[in-house]
Amino acid sequence: MATRAKPSAKTTTAPAAPPWTPSELIRILDDRYGRAPQQASAAPVFELLLTLLSQHTSDRNSGQAMHRLIERFPTWDAVLAAPVREVEDAIRPGGLAPTKSKRMQELLAEVKVRKPDWDLGFLRGMPLEDAKAWLTSLPGVGPKTAACVLLFALERPALPVDTHVERVSKRLGLVPLKMPADKAHAVLEATLEPDEVYAFHVDLIQHGRRTCHARGPKCDECPLEARCPKVGL
Ligand code: SF4
Repeated sequence: MATRAKPSAKTTTAPAAPPWTPSELIRILDDRYGRAPQQASAAPVFELLLTLLSQHTSDRNSGQAMHRLIERFPTWDAVLAAPVREVEDAIRPGGLAPTKSKRMQELLAEVKVRKPDWDLGFLRGMPLEDAKAWLTSLPGVGPKTAACVLLFALERPALPVDTHVERVSKRLGLVPLKMPADKAHAVLEATLEPDEVYAFHVDLIQHGRRTCHARGPKCDECPLEARCPKVGL
């Protein structure tokens, strides 16, 4: 008598749900958190320095440090010409002031050599990869800082991958868990249409801050739970 083969695990396991597409994520997270429209926030050099100041501290502290810097020094030339101790004193609320003040002056010195008028508006008209290469060839400027300048100051579709974007993307299975953040910039950016980049960045940050926390993510309240593979949790 013919025996019926036992169904294999393969045939009984439900297929994994496909990951959310960027446009689905944006729609769902916009619904949950709302989103301010994109607009150029500041001059490129301002954004460069603000991003440098934001390393290893909160937005509040870096914002305060930036405010004190531009209050104390009326021009970028004045920041560059000042004794480093004075710059250090101005940016103290941003933390790591001795290191950041030195880096800031090194960065400004190189920008001044290349663009004495401090106008980086020409990056708007360059092919995106060339604009990234120009910025990342400045001292201390990595892919995240370059993307912040391009996205926020120049409205170019470059994706900054900060700690929230990286964590949420990995948990959702959009990039491999072990992929370094520097590589994730290009991989994630390639999945997005240019007009999705700003929304994706802002929405994933909101989601990381408010729901998908580094420790204790609130999966039971998450609108993405149904198709989230929760990679690494
Ligand atoms: S279900 Fe959990 S791990 Fe997945 S995105 Fe939501 S909060 Fe993050």
